[in-house]
Amino acid sequence: MIIIKSKDEIERMRISALMVSKTLGMLASEIKPGVTSLYLDKLAESFIRDNGGKPGFLGMYDFPNTLCTSVNSEVVHGIPSNKPLLDGDIISIDCGVLFDEYYGDHAYTFSVGEISKEIKDLLETTKESLYKGISEMRSGKRVGDIGYAIQEHCESKGYGVVRELVGHGLGKKLHEDPQVPNYGKRNTGKLLKNGMVLAIEPMINLGTHRVRQLEDGWSIVTEDNKVSAHFEHDIAIVNGYPEILSTFDYIHEALGIKGGSHNISS
Ligand code: MG
Ligand code: MG
Repeated sequence: MIIIKSKDEIERMRISALMVSKTLGMLASEIKPGVTSLYLDKLAESFIRDNGGKPGFLGMYDFPNTLCTSVNSEVVHGIPSNKPLLDGDIISIDCGVLFDEYYGDHAYTFSVGEISKEIKDLLETTKESLYKGISEMRSGKRVGDIGYAIQEHCESKGYGVVRELVGHGLGKKLHEDPQVPNYGKRNTGKLLKNGMVLAIEPMINLGTHRVRQLEDGWSIVTEDNKVSAHFEHDIAIVNGYPEILSTFDYIHEALGIKGGSHNISS
């Protein structure tokens, strides 16, 4: 069942989403070679608690940490560890927050030191595909339109679009209906309406779209061990059009990236 949110609820969800955005922005300036994902996890947990929130993933389905930290060939659900990050790695950080009854849930793939042009292109394309998916999120369109836009953009560049994991509705639960695949056909799937809040989250692989799960029961990795990228935003449909509740601005500011805000009407 899809739960429609009132304008008041959307404003409350914006606060939760922005708490995640600020957490990721705080982490952005800490990510460098030699740092461990467990250190980042502890920073994030303190930051969220200091701001009156609760880590949204900690304990959810028995997940042991605040962040999902997925390095290189890890796609999502990586568990923070004591292994230092290396120059040239990428790390996808997915963070959830529960604040005032509502969840925020968003993610960004960071580079560690200098990364190759090949991987930079993957990150850029994945981020672009997120905004292409978001621009389809208008009342009267359908969930399949979002997936189609993401898939089309990424597969045209030869990347693999992960099938097994999907975006989702968001609200008082971290995962609500509908599921939002990153692939699909135009004009299929659930109808999009005002008041829907979705987490759209393309998971895009440099090579094959195929993935497998590690023995830790959590980490999803690419089958060919090539790298994978993951970007996620929380978006509401307001007056027929998508309104992004989360933001990458704090991250871009920390990293000195200019012009980070995308025009979703493009
Ligand atoms: Mg997430
Ligand atoms: Mg999510």
